[in-house]
Formats: sequence, C-alpha cells, structure tokens
Amino acid sequence: MTVRCATGNPGKLAEFRMAAAALGHPEIEILPLDGIRNLPVCEEDGETFEANAAKKALHYSAYCSGFLFADDSGLAVDALDGAPGVRSARFSPEGTDEANNRLLLEKLAGARDRHARFVCVIALAREGELIATFRGEAEGVVLEAPRGTQGFGYDPLFYYPPLGKTFAELDAKTKMLVSHRGAALRQLFGYLARLPG
Ligand code: IMP
Repeated sequence: MTVRCATGNPGKLAEFRMAAAALGHPEIEILPLDGIRNLPVCEEDGETFEANAAKKALHYSAYCSGFLFADDSGLAVDALDGAPGVRSARFSPEGTDEANNRLLLEKLAGARDRHARFVCVIALAREGELIATFRGEAEGVVLEAPRGTQGFGYDPLFYYPPLGKTFAELDAKTKMLVSHRGAALRQLFGYLARLPG
C-alpha cells in the first residue's frame, strides 16, 4: 500500500516514514508528491485544523493518482480560548519558535489554568475527492519556563504528565508514540491497512 504525502519538507517525510514503522505499519510506503514545490501554493486560511488539512489534501491530490494525505497541527490553550490554534506557526509577528514561545509565556503570565492540547488533523484524499479526516490530540500543561532541547515549536513548554517530561525531553520515537501526530497517523495507517486489495 502506498500513499503520497503533501509536503515538500524532507524532514517531515522522514518523520512520517519513521511513524509507519514505529506504529506497526511497515507495509505502508509513504512517497513524496514529486514537484510539489513547483505547484500552486495552497493557502492555509481555514478556521479549523480540519478545514486546512482538507483544503491541502484536496488541492494537492488533484496533481497525482492514488491516495494522498495532508496534515495541519497546532497548540490549543484553554486559557486563551484555543489560541494559538490554527495560527500556531505564525502566532508572533516574527513567527520563529523562540518568539512564539515567548509570546505564549507573556499571554499566560499569572494564569492559573495552563492546560493545553496539541492537535493534529490528517486529511486523506484521492484525485480531488476527500476520503476522510483523522484527529489526534495530546493533553498537557504549558510550563512557565522551557525544558529540553529536542523537537520543535512549542515542545519545550509542553509538559506531558503521563511521562513527566516535556515533549522536548522525548526522543523522536517516544514522542511519536504519545503525540497528537502519532495519534492521527495511527488512525490513518489503520484505515489504509483495512482497505481491500
Ligand atoms: P503546520 O505546519 O501548519 O501544521 O503548523 C504547525 C505549527 O504548530 C508549528 O509551527 C508549531 O508551532 C506548532 N506545532 C504543531 N505540532 C507541534 C509539535 O509536535 N510540537 C511543537 N509544536 C507543534
């Protein structure tokens, strides 16, 4: 079973391939969408993770045959009414991980409720038709100072109580087993593995 992935980022592709093996689906081969960088860009302007993932999957699946998936993800903080949410990557004007994390700490200064969840939605499409969406979540707490050096984005501030660590203190495979992205990918792989033929 092969499925294409709507990313031009080799690191993301490698991460998805690692996930297929780590989550028990070595039979699923994840291929890049050749030439994705030369295709018209898909604006991620939806108000929900589902809308953005579906828009991307529909857009890029028109340029290949067979199954293609796209993802959208971010951090939703309860005390901020779900922000930064779909705007997680560009929360601060600078849009760097460092500036985003600094702004998050500023906005939560003095907040007693620091509960948050990472969300990842994966949309699966085939030749311009949406087949399904899969939502994964990971529940945690935003710390008052960063911890750990691995991962990216908000990982150093995201404390995951079941393991007693931030996501930036987990190696990539351990994070995949408990993360929002791993949870969404597990559903995607399960769906693909159950397809006939
Ligand atoms: P996307 O690439 O549009 O899905 O944007 C995702 C943004 O959400 C990233 O730039 C990060 O700021 C944040 N994010 C999503 N998943 C993670 C994660 O696993 N760790 C840390 N930050 C994440």
